[in-house]
Amino acid sequence: MNIHEYQAKELLAKFGIAIPKGIAAMSVAEAVEAAKQLPGPLYVVKSQIHAGGRGKGTFKELAPGSKGGVRLAKSLEEVEAHAKDMLGNTLVTIQTGDAGKQVNRLYITDGVDIGKEYYLSMLVDRATGRIAMIASTEGGMSIEDVAHDTPEKIATITIDPAQGFMPHHGRALAFGLKLKGDLAKQAQVLGKQLYDAFVALDCAMIEINPLAECDGKLMVLDTKMSFDSNALYRHPDVMALRDETEEDPAEIEASKYDLAYIKLDGNIGCMVNGAGLAMATMDIIKLNGEFPANFLDVGGGANKEKVTAAFKIILKDPAVKGILVNIFGGIMKCDIIAEGIVAAAKEVNLSVPLVVRLEGTNVAQGKEILETSGLPIVSAADLGDAAKKIVAEVRKAA
Ligand code: ADP
Ligand code: MG
Repeated sequence: MNIHEYQAKELLAKFGIAIPKGIAAMSVAEAVEAAKQLPGPLYVVKSQIHAGGRGKGTFKELAPGSKGGVRLAKSLEEVEAHAKDMLGNTLVTIQTGDAGKQVNRLYITDGVDIGKEYYLSMLVDRATGRIAMIASTEGGMSIEDVAHDTPEKIATITIDPAQGFMPHHGRALAFGLKLKGDLAKQAQVLGKQLYDAFVALDCAMIEINPLAECDGKLMVLDTKMSFDSNALYRHPDVMALRDETEEDPAEIEASKYDLAYIKLDGNIGCMVNGAGLAMATMDIIKLNGEFPANFLDVGGGANKEKVTAAFKIILKDPAVKGILVNIFGGIMKCDIIAEGIVAAAKEVNLSVPLVVRLEGTNVAQGKEILETSGLPIVSAADLGDAAKKIVAEVRKAA
């Protein structure tokens, strides 16, 4: 799960990390009101979307050449004008794709005098099983470009979570950022604070870009934070920061029914129980020359309600030209699943071919229910047969 910049900064501030003063705003009036609370005379009006590259982004609704999604303002009038330009409009950045993202929230912050910009991030490094801290003197720009063009300007420091953040990690960070004296000391403290935040909040990634030196003080000017979804149950306060308007509506609907759904680009909708079986199903569809429209794991306890919700979500995607259901009745019995499929297919008025492969407990009863349902459900003997049949059905319909 991702959160907005202002939310991430407020979390980091709780760990003692320095950020410029700022207030979130949902309307133009709130933006002006927020600016009034800040010392001024320089403000920054920042579009809050779950994507980076906002500063260099463009708004679809504004004239070409207009300013981007992060703008300086020298008066309350300018704050107001920028807020009007941004709120409700669609910001396109290198990270949003062509569709862009609608700006519904702003963050009004104190404008600071930047001496130099740095890059600092922390993430779970699966290869080493440790936490990696990545630092660079080249802040403010795309770190991917720095990694590509000048990899020697990136320092990677790995921290063993069993040992924790040690003073030498802090010194390596200061060295990587080429900082001396008091700034080096600040970097050491910051590294420890960031690590504490990372572990305490079960983060997957924290990226600070830029970290800036402002009047001799290191400050976080922009940050992105994402969390390990499997640990979110431990953090109701973090979960409350979720902004569903930033997420795919189909994926939100799926999560309400505890379905693991990810939209893909193909034309065959898949409904499967178990992530491994779902992956195998997607593979075999590809092997037969078509592409899956989604990954969907209905989980072990698939009941009629879940199956119906899954059908509805799959069918909402206009690209879907056929559905392949591949269920192993282990915990659930095949006859119960078959009843669920039939009831769901009737309820959603199924308009595309449906191939079902059932295996497991009570499979004979399950197949009988499908056959006597009066619905045009194609039954498959095994996974290979199921894939061939759905591909044939989809091509026949095309
Ligand atoms: P993004 O990375 O999405 O473009 P940033 O928050 O990094 O957004 O803003 C882009 C640039 O704007 C930063 O690299 C920095 O130079 C400048 N900036 C951001 N916040 C401030 C601030 N509070 N004061 C002064 N300049 C800022
Ligand atoms: Mg940035």
